[in-house]
Parts: sequence; structure tokens; C-alpha cells
Amino acid sequence: MDTLILIDAVNAVPKDYLPELVPVEGIFLERSAARECLRMLAAAETEGITIKPMSGYRSSDYQNSLWERDIAEHMSDGLSYDEAVRLTSRYLAKPFHSEHETGLAVDLCTPECDDAVLTFAGTEQGRWLSANAHRFGFILRYPRMKEHITGIAYEPWHYRYVGSPHSDIMKNSGLTLEEYLYYYK
Ligand SMILES: [Zn+2]
Repeated sequence: MDTLILIDAVNAVPKDYLPELVPVEGIFLERSAARECLRMLAAAETEGITIKPMSGYRSSDYQNSLWERDIAEHMSDGLSYDEAVRLTSRYLAKPFHSEHETGLAVDLCTPECDDAVLTFAGTEQGRWLSANAHRFGFILRYPRMKEHITGIAYEPWHYRYVGSPHSDIMKNSGLTLEEYLYYYK
């Protein structure tokens, strides 16, 4: 399992990629990501902070259905197909290009939430994750002001398992996964 695998608009999930999936509170994650995610949620809980996993592994078929649904929605709002694709790809990866298809990414939120929102960053759950996720091998994958590097807008809810010590180095240096791979590999 290459926990540093780079999936973005250019790099697709390999066709033969088949993660070993383990359930985590209603979602599925790759085995090592699942183990560390459970440890992370338990650690937050001991501080009285309940964090809810909202989305984990997605099959490519499911990613495709999300992609087509959002494009259809934007087109029904009057956008052209090209405009709808451009808008959708700002916050959703096209099929075979989402980290969620690796089982290494998890979207997290408050117990009340049912959708990803930017205000998550200011909640105690969002702040706790931002400060502590690296201790469990996770990084905030799409930080503010790094959109020109990651290609994805700021997502305070999306955490990616890269494992330690990579997560500690990235957290302390402020490097994205793209930059880390460029400088350290
Ligand atoms: Zn996500």
C-alpha cells in the first residue's frame, strides 16, 4: 500500500487498485487508514469532541454518479456543459480522479451535519482536526491558499491518510502532498 499515492486531475486511480476495506462508523476506509481514523476519533472523544465520518471509500461508479448529478444540476441552472464541468471540478473530482476511490481519504464533520460546509473549519471538531490529525497520519489535503497547487478549493473537512512520519513533516512544513512528493521523494 503506497500511502503517498498522488491522485489528482492528471493522475488517475490505477485500474487494478483494490484497497482492503474496513468499516469505520458507517463508512469504509483502507485498513491502515481505518485503524488510525478510529484512534483519531477516539482521541477527540476523550476531549469531549465528537467527530462524525461523512464519506470514505467511494467506488468509481459512485464517484461517476456524483459527478454526473452535479453537472446536471448546474446545467439545469442554465450553465453550458463546459461551464458546468468547470464549476463541478472546483470541488468534486471526476471519476477515477478522486482520493476517495483509494480508501485513504475521509470527509469529517460535526455530529449534526449531513453535508460538507466551509464553516466546519471554525467548529471545535474542525479546529481539533486541524491541530491533531497529523498525529494519526492524516493531513488536511486541500488547504486554503494552495488551490493553485492542489487544483482543489479549500476543503476543511477532507483529510487524507499518508501515514507517519510523512504527516508530521507536511504539517510542520506546511507542504501539500504535491510539494512533499516533489521535495522529498
Ligand atoms: Zn473528500
